[in-house]
Amino acid sequence: MGDGNLLCKVAAGRSRPVTDLPLTDGTPAMLQLVDIFYTIQGEGIWSGTPAVFVRLAGCNLACEFCDTDYALKFFASIEDVVQRVRELSGSCPMVVLTGGEPLAQGATPALIAALREDGRRVHIESNGTVFCHLPDDVWLCVSPKERVDPRMAERANEVKLIVDGRVPEEHLPLFAGQPLILLQPEGNRPQNVTIALDYAKAHPKRFRMSLQLHKFIGVS
Ligand code: SF4
Repeated sequence: MGDGNLLCKVAAGRSRPVTDLPLTDGTPAMLQLVDIFYTIQGEGIWSGTPAVFVRLAGCNLACEFCDTDYALKFFASIEDVVQRVRELSGSCPMVVLTGGEPLAQGATPALIAALREDGRRVHIESNGTVFCHLPDDVWLCVSPKERVDPRMAERANEVKLIVDGRVPEEHLPLFAGQPLILLQPEGNRPQNVTIALDYAKAHPKRFRMSLQLHKFIGVS
């Protein structure tokens, strides 16, 4: 983890500190959370796959188009999160850590380790700005917005560009080694869908559309 004691720079009313919590003073590591829920992955390569989502609070960016509620709702220990995942999903192998920015909390690597120990396949949805050593079996989806760490760009298993009025081609050089780039129309808006569709059709070997399936079927 590269950044400690992050303060998220978010719009007024949503601002929440993301503070690394001590792991070595004998007290259990606590996570700052928004929600834990069992649904399907609605985006990207794993779209349609049942998964538990663990939404961590706080973000270190403040994207204009952001419609995610990542304000802190509750604290929980790592053990409590693992237990909640078990209660919600039984043997479902896939757990998605999302945010906000899930790698901005100091306890996240320990949560990843605990979930893997419990037999889960951990997926991370990250903006790619916070460097973190991840085990090889952790799936990393990077959706770049600004100042991506090149090591996270290289580590990414999946790259998702948000299309909001245009395809943000400025990010492409960082992902030169990636054979597949997903284009996700912001808000499923028709104008963004058209831009993404035209771009994918013009670059059919490397680009694919990712629609937010969960919004079409009305689930979280
Ligand atoms: S990185 Fe994602 S969660 Fe954070 S502000 Fe941007 S869109 Fe929202």
